[in-house]
Amino acid sequence: MTKILFSDKLDKCVERWKSAGLTVMGPVQRANIKTYAAVEHASEFDFGLILTDRSIKDLFFPQTEPMLRYTIKKDAINTDECLPPREQRIIFGARACDASGMAIDDPLFGWDYKDEYWFQRRNESVIVTIACTNADEFCMCTSLKMAPDSTKGSDVLLRPLENSKGWQVEELTERGREAFKTIADLLQEGSDTAAPVAAVAEKFDLDACVAWLQNPENFDSKFWKEISMRCIGCASCTYLCPTCHCFDIQDEGDTYSGIRRKNWDSCSFALFTLHTSGHNPRSTQSARWRQRIMHKFNYFPSKFNANSCSGCGRCSRECPVDMGITETLQEISKLSQ
Ligand code: SF4
Ligand code: SF4
Repeated sequence: MTKILFSDKLDKCVERWKSAGLTVMGPVQRANIKTYAAVEHASEFDFGLILTDRSIKDLFFPQTEPMLRYTIKKDAINTDECLPPREQRIIFGARACDASGMAIDDPLFGWDYKDEYWFQRRNESVIVTIACTNADEFCMCTSLKMAPDSTKGSDVLLRPLENSKGWQVEELTERGREAFKTIADLLQEGSDTAAPVAAVAEKFDLDACVAWLQNPENFDSKFWKEISMRCIGCASCTYLCPTCHCFDIQDEGDTYSGIRRKNWDSCSFALFTLHTSGHNPRSTQSARWRQRIMHKFNYFPSKFNANSCSGCGRCSRECPVDMGITETLQEISKLSQ
């Protein structure tokens, strides 16, 4: 027997979690944007989406946020540190690629400096993932050695029932068990069968790609120019990516007061590496695209033992010129043969 959550109980669950002080969030469509956001009622969730346009990263690492406010007086500089507001949250209906993306970035944000903005939100969030039963041509979790029902980064995994009436419940972490204690009486024991997970074809040979990237002779290959010629450097791929994590810190204000903000940045931008002298070590778009691929599949894994990609496919799905990680790694796979 397995624990089952029937869909007709979900609104009660939302009420229960809200009464317990949790903000309930999940996949929604708002103003034509498919994203994760807070809901009041279960009817606001859109579980029919294969994937939201915006990734779950937005909930842990917002596009912009204040770090401190400062005032400068004749004899003193005053600063007030800003941390995110305290908020216990349950994110219901994440996808496995998004949840695993957060776990991929944990070591990065805790490496030489512990990023309190990231870890406060990570520690205050319960991620409830729904295994995918549908995929589109851009999904590629299996190419990254993951699966539509991977558990990495999730606190609870739900498997949709074959009869579409609810989900099998698998509590994975203590935090997940605590959140589901609140709704224990709304769950039922049952033997309802789970629907098969989506069939996601493997699109490239990851090991062969990594070996090619690690070969120093390929750093200056003409391949980089050919593959990235049409990139317009818009950064959609990095901004929508659950694992891309680059940011810049800027002071916004005048001589006497202002706010220090943490803002997303992107290796796709020429300004990202521009030196004050005017020299830019990545002066071409092809050098910037090479950096993105090398970072995700060579440098990051050598430091953190995981690829900086969870296979969500957003970079290819949303690229205005139909580029993306998939195409690049498919071409590298061919070069490796
Ligand atoms: S690869 Fe596509 S999405 Fe990414 S920066 Fe280039 S044009 Fe934009
Ligand atoms: S690199 Fe592309 S496929 Fe990989 S996690 Fe980022 S957006 Fe998704």
